Amino acid sequence: MSTLADTTAATPTGGGFVVHANPAPVPDEAREAELVAPRFGTVFTDHMARVSWDEARGWHDRRVEAYGPLQMDPASAVLHYAQEIFEGLKAYRHADGSVWSFRPQANAARLARSAARLALPVLPEEDFLASIEALVRQDLAWVPSGEETSLYLRPFMYASEAFLGVRASRQVEYLVIASPVGPYFAQGVHPVAIWVSDDYRRAAPGGTGAAKCGGNYAASLLPQQEASARGFDQVCYLDATTGTTLEELGGMNVVVVHADGTVRTPALNGSILEGVTRSSILRLLADAGHAVEEAPVLLADLVAGLADGSVTEVFACGTAAVVTPIGRLAGAGFDHVVGDGTAGAVTMRIREQLTDIQYGRAADPHGWMHRLA
Ligand SMILES: *Cc1c(COP(=O)(O)O)cnc(C)c1O
Repeated sequence: MSTLADTTAATPTGGGFVVHANPAPVPDEAREAELVAPRFGTVFTDHMARVSWDEARGWHDRRVEAYGPLQMDPASAVLHYAQEIFEGLKAYRHADGSVWSFRPQANAARLARSAARLALPVLPEEDFLASIEALVRQDLAWVPSGEETSLYLRPFMYASEAFLGVRASRQVEYLVIASPVGPYFAQGVHPVAIWVSDDYRRAAPGGTGAAKCGGNYAASLLPQQEASARGFDQVCYLDATTGTTLEELGGMNVVVVHADGTVRTPALNGSILEGVTRSSILRLLADAGHAVEEAPVLLADLVAGLADGSVTEVFACGTAAVVTPIGRLAGAGFDHVVGDGTAGAVTMRIREQLTDIQYGRAADPHGWMHRLA
């Protein structure tokens, strides 16, 4: 593992990140082989970006170093009390070879909001942007160039202080790791089946639902296993107070399309995670003339709409899969095919519009793209 004490040449980059180059990067041929059809989250690049924080010094030691295992004290607070947050965004290679990210300022702002909720220090936006730029520039050869491929970036922050007392950690590590990914739907976009859980809740008012923290995901694993055992792909959660309105999936927001073109998604209520994909899609749909509503979505209304045909499409959205059509929605006492069970026209059009912007195939009317290299 490379550390600051290494004798490897250290090169300063923009944003104050110092590069300690990996002395043993993956050879070109092996890397090219890894880039052919990478499975999500299994292959990682040669480097990681890293910034340390402690109470006395604040954020310090901005660096890019060799990807590798972290040394961690068994008493590190994160291992006991889950003081951890993360982000997810992608670097896209355009036809001219340039590499871009999509609204990274929104991820920086969300990381700051998550940090505030988890009593972690806020990483300034300029450090967030500099960290992904420094890593992507160092590992540029890892950004794939095939159709709908990208380099998935995973910034995260955790409590590293060795202390079993229950209080906010006085030592924190922030890292960014990167993983080349192929098209989410390798066999083409296909609709998924969703189980609406009436016995598990993802988030409650006053809880951590609006923060992107590992703890929310830990709690979603058992419901996901049970839904899989029933033959469903993913779980949709209801609000914790009344159990009558839709919130979101474990890692994606949900959008409902009506026969008259009206599009509705659950309003941000403090327990829903505000997706960058969600807000971008709402903007593009409004631009295209759709009536867009952010309002509570009653499960009973949705089920009735699926039965009488007034609801024509339902889709989920998030960075990893972009837009995922939902072809079947079921829960206690109901089981409906959505539309004719295939991906709907509005769903597929918005997916294409958004990916066209991200991959530089269409104009970027809102200035969402941010050049990394
Ligand atoms: C990350 C995440 C999303 C999607 O957010 P994007 O910014 O669009 O990727 C939605 N819901 C949850 C719970 C998430 O963690």
